Amino acid sequence: MSKTRDGNHYVAQSKAWTTGVNSLAASATATSSTKTLEESYDMIVIGAGYAGLVAARDVAFAKKDVLLVEGRDRIGGRTFTYDFLGHKVELGGTWVHWAQPHVWSEMSRYGLTDGLAQSKAFSEPGEFSINYNNDENNTALLRDPRSTDAAMQRLVAAYFDVDGFGGRTIFPFPFKKMTNLEAIRKYDNLSTKGRLQQLVGFSREDIALLAVNLTAFGSIPPEEQSFLTTLHYYALADYDYDRLMTMMGRYKIAEGQSTLAANIFGEFTGDAVFSKAVQSVVSSPCKVVVSLRSGEKITAKHVICTVPINCLNDITFTPPLPPPMVKTQHRNWGGKVIVHLDKKIPSWWGLTAAPTPVDCLLVDKHSEHDGTFVVGFSPSDAHRTGGKVVEDPQIFTDKMLELCVPSTWDAHVTDLIWHDWNSDEISKGQWAAWSAGQLKELNSLLASANVSRELTLASADWADGWTGFIDGAIAEGRRAARRAVLKLDSPRL
Ligand SMILES: Cc1cc2nc3c(=O)[nH]c(=O)nc-3n(C[C@H](O)[C@H](O)[C@H](O)COP(=O)(O)OP(=O)(O)OC[C@H]3O[C@@H](n4cnc5c(N)ncnc54)[C@H](O)[C@@H]3O)c2cc1C
Repeated sequence: MSKTRDGNHYVAQSKAWTTGVNSLAASATATSSTKTLEESYDMIVIGAGYAGLVAARDVAFAKKDVLLVEGRDRIGGRTFTYDFLGHKVELGGTWVHWAQPHVWSEMSRYGLTDGLAQSKAFSEPGEFSINYNNDENNTALLRDPRSTDAAMQRLVAAYFDVDGFGGRTIFPFPFKKMTNLEAIRKYDNLSTKGRLQQLVGFSREDIALLAVNLTAFGSIPPEEQSFLTTLHYYALADYDYDRLMTMMGRYKIAEGQSTLAANIFGEFTGDAVFSKAVQSVVSSPCKVVVSLRSGEKITAKHVICTVPINCLNDITFTPPLPPPMVKTQHRNWGGKVIVHLDKKIPSWWGLTAAPTPVDCLLVDKHSEHDGTFVVGFSPSDAHRTGGKVVEDPQIFTDKMLELCVPSTWDAHVTDLIWHDWNSDEISKGQWAAWSAGQLKELNSLLASANVSRELTLASADWADGWTGFIDGAIAEGRRAARRAVLKLDSPRL
């Protein structure tokens, strides 16, 4: 198994901190990367995340000569699986569901739908804790999960019911967000906090509980987070909050995300280069010149660019990209960490209100060392104040234990594993999450991705259905491939 430069692992006992972890995402590059670049191709695909991998594979299926260019030393982009002593530890995108049609069809193509792994917190009955982090309560207290569930169901129903129909009129077709434009205009500027303030007849504690739970959807503070994006996820889960939590946190590919990425890459028949970031893309009729930061220039008839929206401005495009692509940035600057605890704790998930290093924690699985792997999500506060999600791993884990883990378990952290997606120059953030007022911008992104006869953009960040998810990346990659091949094949008038 090869090492990628990405990922961090801190071992508490020895205080050893290593950067770079073993991953199939890195080993897979050996199978078809090329040393001898041709001078020109039919198509260059920039980025080997899911959108880029699928686009490159499909364009090659259409018998075009393709080059895939990736800035990292691995495939998978914002997903990669750390092979940690036989455990598949996901440092980026993780959970999938059969109601996410594009990722499911790829998993099914490669035989990965059997024997899904399941995260304990949302697959086994267990414990729930909350720390409101205020003057009256500033530790993680276990609460009866059944009464919490009942309170949440009532609250969630009220929260989404802006239209008297449980929110159902806003996104009548969740795979096409912008159907009811009037409603979108009406609610676009509403934040989750603004919506929660409109609710009457609920306790302050329950409202605080839902606020923290919603924050974890995209690591955006409630005063900024778009109400409509939370409603859109709920619509995708067919207006069932339990199902939404299941879709977002239960089923994983047992072999790891990097296995799916490696399967897609395995079917790709073109050339691929890694650790080569693109610097500029200059389009003229029938010809695009792509310059790499390492100095090489390659030409193609068409380019599909799949870099994250927050990194598009780091490539110089001539002619410039449409304005929405240049001025829009998503706001998910939170963090994801995986901790290994020294105890077998029960199935559990917990929420902690800000300020906290982690606002949502959930038990993933037990380890053979009588320990437990727990996945945590950090709010974006650290990044917004110029810091990193994990500055000092020991201080981070001490604070996390104090605030977020119920003391009854007397658990200690043995390992902390994470990748800093925010200071990563070619992601500049986690999965796309949007602020109040940005849904209209998302629509403009979708409309402007089909840039020209020579250039097509694709990314999970603005996908129409599962925006910000693996499913959205695959949907976008497929669509871009078809569009680009049609452009290549259509005669120029
Ligand atoms: C911590 C975390 C947790 C997540 N959890 C989930 C989850 O549970 N379920 C889910 O469905 N989704 C989840 N997601 C979201 C999901 O992983 C992403 O939305 C999806 O993988 C994005 O795919 P993409 O191809 O659009 O972009 P990316 O994966 O970002 O691919 C873009 C590629 O472009 C490359 N690149 C960038 N700039 C350049 C350049 N200048 N030159 C060359 N290459 C460049 C990048 O290195 C990258 O490989 C999560 C994401 C993160 C970060």
